[in-house]
Amino acid sequence: MERKVRTRVAPSPTGDPHVGTAYIAMFNIAFAHANGGEFILRIEDTDQNRYTEGSEQMIFDALKWLDLNWAEGPDVGGECGPYRQSERFHIYGDYARQLVEKGEAYYCFCTQERLENLRERQKAMGKAPGYDGHCRSLTKEEIEAKLAAGEPYVIRLKMPYEGETVIKDRLRGDIVFENNKIDDQVLLKADGYPTYHLANVVDDHLMHITHVIRAEEWIASTPKHIQLYKAFGWEAPEFIHMPLLRNSDRTKISKRKNPVSLNWYKEEGYLKEGLVNFLGLMGYSFGENKEIFSLEEFKDNFNIDNVSLGGPVFDLVKLGWVNNQH
Ligand code: GLU
Ligand code: ZN
Repeated sequence: MERKVRTRVAPSPTGDPHVGTAYIAMFNIAFAHANGGEFILRIEDTDQNRYTEGSEQMIFDALKWLDLNWAEGPDVGGECGPYRQSERFHIYGDYARQLVEKGEAYYCFCTQERLENLRERQKAMGKAPGYDGHCRSLTKEEIEAKLAAGEPYVIRLKMPYEGETVIKDRLRGDIVFENNKIDDQVLLKADGYPTYHLANVVDDHLMHITHVIRAEEWIASTPKHIQLYKAFGWEAPEFIHMPLLRNSDRTKISKRKNPVSLNWYKEEGYLKEGLVNFLGLMGYSFGENKEIFSLEEFKDNFNIDNVSLGGPVFDLVKLGWVNNQH
């Protein structure tokens, strides 16, 4: 059976709401709209070190300001969207242990000291840093003894060391990764918190996400996610990697060269229609040389295949026309 199309944006609340979040949300919304689907919002707030107070509310407010609205989404363990990973934090450990039972993941008791030594040795040999699979070979008895002794551990995914993982990206074609270049990823940290990889995949699965449309900076994570879906025995979503917004010197859009906080645009009095229009022109051609359109027009005419990967330049000088227009 064809699954109902469902897309999402999954920002981490680590500061001011970013213009890239609005950009990605907008394309996810349009894609869902064009396919009779639904778009949801998930806050990925399991990284306690990067958590910023008030950031989540600012993300909600900024997306609402731009009319980038989300649906409630499916009931997942008694909750509907916007979802918050911190509220679902208790479930991820069970999923990681489920993979251990299936033989797809394992307990790793390596100390920081061992990992540091390993890195040093790899560096000295001119090898890329990466975990060496040391704890894969622990016996059942050794593992039980360590757990009983309360030794701290992480849970790692057993990456296949052979073969290839291929992302079939609608915009980019096949992106091929050699599996022996990807080491055994940590899924559950020593403090019991999930890593981005685990929480992201578990949630995309439970929320029935069919298309993951995210920025190209996540490409390196995608083969890890594909392997995780495989390990769980779940159907993976389709992955589509959008171009990164860039400064006019082609570097990744940054605060120093462009205002990236959505709040800034709001406070400076930029019109939301203008900002959305501008974002809709980033790596996207509407067709018929049409340059001025509303969010509704963008959604109603959206075709993901019209995204181009050239590296759209997001430049405030260009944005000047926004005010002149209105
Ligand atoms: N939490 C990630 C972010 O901050 C999500 C990336 C993704 O869409 O998977 O963008
Ligand atoms: Zn280990």
